Amino acid sequence: MKVYDRLDRQYEKYAEEYKQAALRVLDSGWYILGHELEEFEKEFADYIGYPYCVGLNSGLDALILAVKALGIGAGDEVIVPANTYIATVLGITANGAVPVFCEPDEFYNIDASRIESLITKRTRAIMVVHLYGQAANMSAIREIADRHNLYLIEDCAQSHSAKFDGRTSGTWGDVGCFSFYPTKNLGAFGDSGAVLVKDEKLAEKFRALRNYGSRVKYHNDYCGVNSRLDEMQAALLRVKLSHLDELIAERITLKDKYLSGITNPAIILPKVREKSGHVWHLFVIRSERRNELHDYLEAHEIHTQIHYPIPPHMQKCYEYLGHHKRNFPIAERFADEVLSLPFYNGMTEDEINYVIEVINAF
Ligand SMILES: *Cc1c(COP(=O)(O)O)cnc(C)c1O
Repeated sequence: MKVYDRLDRQYEKYAEEYKQAALRVLDSGWYILGHELEEFEKEFADYIGYPYCVGLNSGLDALILAVKALGIGAGDEVIVPANTYIATVLGITANGAVPVFCEPDEFYNIDASRIESLITKRTRAIMVVHLYGQAANMSAIREIADRHNLYLIEDCAQSHSAKFDGRTSGTWGDVGCFSFYPTKNLGAFGDSGAVLVKDEKLAEKFRALRNYGSRVKYHNDYCGVNSRLDEMQAALLRVKLSHLDELIAERITLKDKYLSGITNPAIILPKVREKSGHVWHLFVIRSERRNELHDYLEAHEIHTQIHYPIPPHMQKCYEYLGHHKRNFPIAERFADEVLSLPFYNGMTEDEINYVIEVINAF
């Protein structure tokens, strides 16, 4: 049996609704900045529980524009987890600001207890990532941001609807940045993203920034970009959003099967922080024999992924920051040990049982 992350199953489940939404857009004769986007922005803002949503072209654009909209640039420092996807860090460096890396905790998120020692007089913001679908330790981080008068930006690309202490990720800070890349829990059928904000003026600024910096046609207040969430993706996202709670509930059932089924002592299973409402974007295990385990699973036609094999501070593009191996030993160790198991909506009982059986025999 071949088992791998597949997107066709979650499409098939609601195929008729997606087709109707797509046809509605094609027939409408209006494809950019229209009714579907307006409705999606309202529905997503309501769903998360924050006043304003501004739809963009991608999660990376959300991060880049968040840093830009807050006026953070050259000479400024932003504290960011050392254990994250490169896009988080690109959001900072695209604006000429400097990423200051912070080691992760045992839940793979930024270690709140290490943040304060990294703050300097140039620090302007903390950028947290709610990795794998689990919110970071937000009460502690919110308090640090308040105490030092820092902006708080949240990378929610993997955490739609994840909560900490009952409060949804994306509503703790100044800007919540979302991706709707197809594999995300709320995934579109192409690229798209959004920001969530509580401040109306800031929302207006994002609306201008995504549209060449223009509020009124041909009058440009900012040097903006072209980053709009198109009508087709907005219409398809409205369908997916209406089913997101069911999709997350299914993921929770699947992770329970993995957690109770995998008993091999060579495997470290994911842990959930107290007060955390995890939405299980990925199911990530660890093993000291990760590469061997990966090859063994491949040989059994089980396709796994590594999120992520090289931490940002070790990437060639960030050589100029002057970091070295062993500067962030915890993040580096995670990069050597993590493995994401097949985990997707529509995964069958037979498929998950097969993965569990093969892992237990490793
Ligand atoms: C996917 C992802 C992004 C980037 O989103 P795109 O829409 O692909 O640009 C940023 N940060 C994290 C943590 C992600 O997982």
